[in-house]
Amino acid sequence: MNAALPVEVLKQHLIDPEICIRCNTCEETCPIDAITHDSNNYVVDPDICNGCMACVPPCPTGSIDNWRLVVRAEAYSLQDQLGWDELPREQPLPEAAAVAQPAADAAVEPPSAAAVAVMPSAAPGASVPPWSAAHPYVNLYTHKTPVTATVVGNYRVTGADTDSDIHHIVLDFGELPFPVLEGQSIGILPPGADAQGRPHHARQYSLASPRDGERAGYNNLSLTVKRVTEDHQGQSAHGVCSNYLCDLAKNDTVQVIGPFGHTFLMPNHPRANLIMICTGTGSAPMRAMTERYRRRIETGENGRLLLFFGARTERELPYFGPLMKLPRDFIDINLALSREAGQPKRYVQDLIRERAAAVRELLADRNTCIYVCGLKGMEVGVLDALREVTMQAGQDWTILHDVLRREGRLHFETY
Ligand code: NAP
Repeated sequence: MNAALPVEVLKQHLIDPEICIRCNTCEETCPIDAITHDSNNYVVDPDICNGCMACVPPCPTGSIDNWRLVVRAEAYSLQDQLGWDELPREQPLPEAAAVAQPAADAAVEPPSAAAVAVMPSAAPGASVPPWSAAHPYVNLYTHKTPVTATVVGNYRVTGADTDSDIHHIVLDFGELPFPVLEGQSIGILPPGADAQGRPHHARQYSLASPRDGERAGYNNLSLTVKRVTEDHQGQSAHGVCSNYLCDLAKNDTVQVIGPFGHTFLMPNHPRANLIMICTGTGSAPMRAMTERYRRRIETGENGRLLLFFGARTERELPYFGPLMKLPRDFIDINLALSREAGQPKRYVQDLIRERAAAVRELLADRNTCIYVCGLKGMEVGVLDALREVTMQAGQDWTILHDVLRREGRLHFETY
């Protein structure tokens, strides 16, 4: 009698298209380029993925953490995955495969979360939150079960005479629970369908308000949304969700999913310092964190706040008026204006270099966390500036960078 030949089993890594918010974090994090996407889905190449798990902790929704045992020769192809609206159910394996499974499975068993946390990583930021961060709730509302929020405010926070049409939008959740922390984001489901007739995907926006509400004690939150009228190359483009949001009127309703994010969170212990580095609408989480500190200014438990904020001009800098009214001894504000008439072009990284002593002093304190949010292009410039200011003091940036990542003290959210 011939015994059935064992077939090779693969623990295939898959992304749940129903939960994924298409934020690109996994594709950026993957050290071996196993993750790719089209206009529909983010997908994992079974021929490349080695189950290293580097992409799992940074994913804000957990949609990345899906696995199916499959016969390797029948693994779901990229083409299969790109067409999915939902994950396929786990299928029973053939008997011969089941025999071979433990060895094959062991070969791809992903490392533990603790092991991943100490892995050397190519990602510029941490994949863990600061040790004292509060516990975040994530995925309370999904594509299948969105929550309806009501618009209670929508106003422009940039000069009316500028091209930067940035809105502060306040959403109220009424009686429905929507617990959030500063640094988290939500997804908005714009109405309508894409060119293929599929419902639009959710678009992700960071909270601009602190955990206790845009108005303290109310069940509401705010977003900072820039009306998209051109793409990154400057070509004319119509942002589906940003235009929808910027045009909303008071009492309109919006479908919301989330909250998302479990790492870009602020420390919760007394006298924690924050270095906040942002451009444009990347100021949203910085506003949330600053407001959290402002509301407890009387308690004396705040650490120091050092802000580097980049915009084209003062009139294109969201929240310019309210920001400039904050007390100088509460927050150290450094504005980098790149297109202000009669002034040299400045980027946030230029100001980090100019304020090297203040940056170094805070970096030397283990109670300091750094947050970077805004344009993707600033990432390299900011890292270079931080390297330079540390090296000027004879310190090794490579070591400090690793410590900051390991201790959840350096966070990036850039698009
Ligand atoms: P923007 O107006 O295009 O740019 C803001 C400033 O950054 C300008 O002064 C710009 O200078 C400067 N800048 C350009 N390249 C830079 C670089 N390589 N390094 C440092 N500074 C640079 O910004 P925006 O349109 O508001 O974009 C903000 C970004 O934040 C978007 O990518 C958005 O997706 C992201 N974001 C938004 C949210 C949200 O909740 N809304 C949350 C997270 C992230 P010049 O243009 O004059 O060169």
